[in-house]
Amino acid sequence: MNSTKGHQPRRVPMALLYLSLGGLLACPPSPTTDAGTEPDAGNAGDAGSRPPLPSAAEMRGWIEAVVREGIRRPGMAADARTEQRSVEWLTTMGVEDVRLEPVPLTRWNTVEGESTVEVCAAGGCGAGAKLTVFPSLGVESPRTVTAPLVAFDGGVAGITGAIVVLNYPMRRFVPAALAAKALFVHDPESNLSQTNHPDSRPQNSPAAMQVPTILRARPAAIICGLENFFDTPFVFGVPTVALSDSTPVVFASASTRAALVRAIEAGRATARLSVVASNEAVITHNVVGRLRSALSTDIVLFGSHHDGPFLGATEDAAGVALVLAQARYWSQVPEAQRPFEFHFVLTSAHLQRSRGAEAWVSAHPELVARTMLDVHLETPAREFDVDAASRPIDRSRVEPHWFYTTKSAPLVAQLSAAVRQVDYRRTFAVDPAMFDDGPPSDSKAFFKAGIPVLAHISNPAFYMTIEDTLDKVSDEANEQLSRVVIEVVWGLQGQTATSLRAGVEP
Ligand SMILES: [Zn+2]
Repeated sequence: MNSTKGHQPRRVPMALLYLSLGGLLACPPSPTTDAGTEPDAGNAGDAGSRPPLPSAAEMRGWIEAVVREGIRRPGMAADARTEQRSVEWLTTMGVEDVRLEPVPLTRWNTVEGESTVEVCAAGGCGAGAKLTVFPSLGVESPRTVTAPLVAFDGGVAGITGAIVVLNYPMRRFVPAALAAKALFVHDPESNLSQTNHPDSRPQNSPAAMQVPTILRARPAAIICGLENFFDTPFVFGVPTVALSDSTPVVFASASTRAALVRAIEAGRATARLSVVASNEAVITHNVVGRLRSALSTDIVLFGSHHDGPFLGATEDAAGVALVLAQARYWSQVPEAQRPFEFHFVLTSAHLQRSRGAEAWVSAHPELVARTMLDVHLETPAREFDVDAASRPIDRSRVEPHWFYTTKSAPLVAQLSAAVRQVDYRRTFAVDPAMFDDGPPSDSKAFFKAGIPVLAHISNPAFYMTIEDTLDKVSDEANEQLSRVVIEVVWGLQGQTATSLRAGVEP
């Protein structure tokens, strides 16, 4: 344990920049979709000969099985069990060469409920109620601090050596701003612009800008009381990239912050904060497999990640299910008719700067050269908001979602046609080249390697929090997204890695 402590660079939370989402249709899969609107896929792609798409219920079953394994932060036991399950699922489907490829990383150990804050009574600490907090990333060793409890009021007087309670309202997320830059939008109800909900990534809160100011005054600890949000401390992230392990920074729910503020106002201004966190070197794995084609050696890769910040029903058990759905579908197309060679890559360590995706690219230059399209599938979700009392509001519609779509004319055209054919609403496409360092998702590794990408993603209110539970999964989105992808792949028949890359517009 802690063997790497003192040698780790600060882990800037790149993972928190990553977004995700998905989509499906509740009606049963139809092997005979409207032939009049089918992209021309030749005999092999003839709608009448196509296998059925796995049902929404089957996809939900995979998602539930992954969620049941437990919390899957990178390298945790539940994450390892998910790797094994994924091997079994792919193998059972007839996917070939299924195996685990090692991805070493440093596991961050902490357990929900073990980190607490107690307001101490006049006689001392130890007898009071323990309120739950959750360490931010960057807290990498256990410690207990007892210190005066103060509320941050904008000034630094009285902060040094104190446990500082910071009011930490989350920013609002408005996807219409990104949709305004889209390659195309499919929003026939014109309601995408109505979405406006909390952004769960703590580094995006305006309060994050106050954290460095407080840290410079050398407090004993900072408690970020999450406001305008679910009433939970369980958020995966950091308030600022300026953190180090020297000062514990933790998250608290709105109700915990209120209790701490009441104690400060009542004059009981001493607290004991106990934080449990450590690091440990482990070996995680990418799960990989393939289906050969008699028609082509060009590769279409389907990827998602198997780790998650907490239970991760949509981030990213759903992504695992979406990849499994593609594996099941294409395994039922005879090798003689498969339009491409298909690879399936369930990566580890999304939450650690996509190290699993980076590892696959580094390990397989020969495959990278043959890969004509990386299809990354993430975070199909129902839209939720939060009311003034921190209660969830189910908007009863799919969370707006987008595809990072390499600006290759055939790819954009096929995607646009497929989204409209399937009528997958609240969808838009964004050129990944508009981001300085590539699209903020696991697809970045593939994009940087020169592979055209089609990466589905969203940013729901519960992203990277413990609120990402099974009720947030959208069966309709899962099925619709799966159908869109299948249509795009059939529609690209005849393209090659060379032709698709050649078509990329600057
Ligand atoms: Zn994800």
